[in-house]
Amino acid sequence: MSSKQAISLEFFPPRDIAAQEKLVRSAKQLLALHPEYVSVTFGAGGSTRSGTADTVRMMQNLGCDAAPHLSCIGATRATLGEILDAYREQGIRRIVALRGDLPSGMGGDAGELHYASHLVEFIREHSGDWFHVEVAAYPESHPQSASAQSDLDHFVAKVQAGANSAITQYFFNADAYFDFVERARARGVDVPIVPGIMPITNHTQLARFSTMCGAEIPRWLKLRLTDFGDDKASIKAFGVDVITRMCQQLLDGGAPGLHFYTLNGAESTMAICRQLRLG
Ligand code: FAD
Repeated sequence: MSSKQAISLEFFPPRDIAAQEKLVRSAKQLLALHPEYVSVTFGAGGSTRSGTADTVRMMQNLGCDAAPHLSCIGATRATLGEILDAYREQGIRRIVALRGDLPSGMGGDAGELHYASHLVEFIREHSGDWFHVEVAAYPESHPQSASAQSDLDHFVAKVQAGANSAITQYFFNADAYFDFVERARARGVDVPIVPGIMPITNHTQLARFSTMCGAEIPRWLKLRLTDFGDDKASIKAFGVDVITRMCQQLLDGGAPGLHFYTLNGAESTMAICRQLRLG
């Protein structure tokens, strides 16, 4: 593997013991790919702040460089400062800084920092250069953005606030990634923009996620997945082929690495990386 094409892996905090055991099994298998780091989501799926911290510690114990995600929506500066200090004490050097989404039922209290760019500014004010700060990028535009142009402006603002690199939302169209990178470069952004890769394992789940996060499943892909019906094994095998081809296209086109949304499973990410001869 070229050192320029590092991979990173994303996990979410498990909700119960069985899920935790599955995560440990998956993580141990995936470590064979020598990821540059693993990241752990924050607040997703009803998990708590301590769920992220505990999972990060578990990943560190497995010998990984672990990067917690941190979202600012609904939080105070004081709380965010405490979290950052605790991570620093734990030896964490990388944070994925996000706005996040207010969970339904939390009312309208958006907290003190309203956008990820504010969080990046806060991290730099509070912790100086201690953390390598990753931010999110949206090749197909964030679903709430007023326009592709304003979404790019807001991405540029995150980098200007001090982000060191970016991970994209997943997509199934490499051209959207290349177009985004080109437009960001034209605006003077020179940090790495790493494509986020979603292995295809479950059609229903993928359709639900994609609607929520604004990732387009192309018509041909939707139709092919529909044809497989409940045949999970065929969906997985087809998914590995499709995603491997897209990853190859991304790497050939200059992507600096790949960030896999593992959904705490190992099989598809392993198969894709093996086909790409990564790790
Ligand atoms: P921002 O960059 O703040 O953008 C959010 C929206 O606001 C965009 O539409 C943007 O155009 C707009 N905007 C930004 N700045 C301004 C401004 N100054 N004025 C007006 N509009 C503005 N969610 C979780 O809950 N937990 C996670 O762990 C998590 N991990 C993620 C990891 C990655 C790699 C990605 C791509 C997403 C992740 N998400 C996670 C989802 C993310 O929290 C949502 O997409 C959220 O809606 C936006 O977060 P952001 O950091 O991109 O926000």
